[in-house]
Amino acid sequence: MRKKREQPLCAFCRNNGLPPKDYLSHVLKDDKGRVMCPVLRAYTCPRCHANGDNAHTITYCPRVQNEEREAQIPSPTTTSFAAANPLLRSLSYW
Ligand SMILES: [Zn+2]
Ligand SMILES: [Zn+2]
Repeated sequence: MRKKREQPLCAFCRNNGLPPKDYLSHVLKDDKGRVMCPVLRAYTCPRCHANGDNAHTITYCPRVQNEEREAQIPSPTTTSFAAANPLLRSLSYW
């Protein structure tokens, strides 16, 4: 063992409970980030309809992740609304 190298495997297939002979036969993505997994390539994201090289599950959908990030920000309050509207803020002092 001269060089330590990770066993190439497909985490997607492994997580889906496929046998080792299946998930060890390919990698999920190549070094350029293109999807290599035939199962995932055939899958179309129900959220953004990406598939093939850019395929992902809805869990990893960049669109869903953006929305979740926005959902964690507190909903616009009167304060932030007023802060963005100087006219409204000045009116509130009356
Ligand atoms: Zn796979
Ligand atoms: Zn997506």
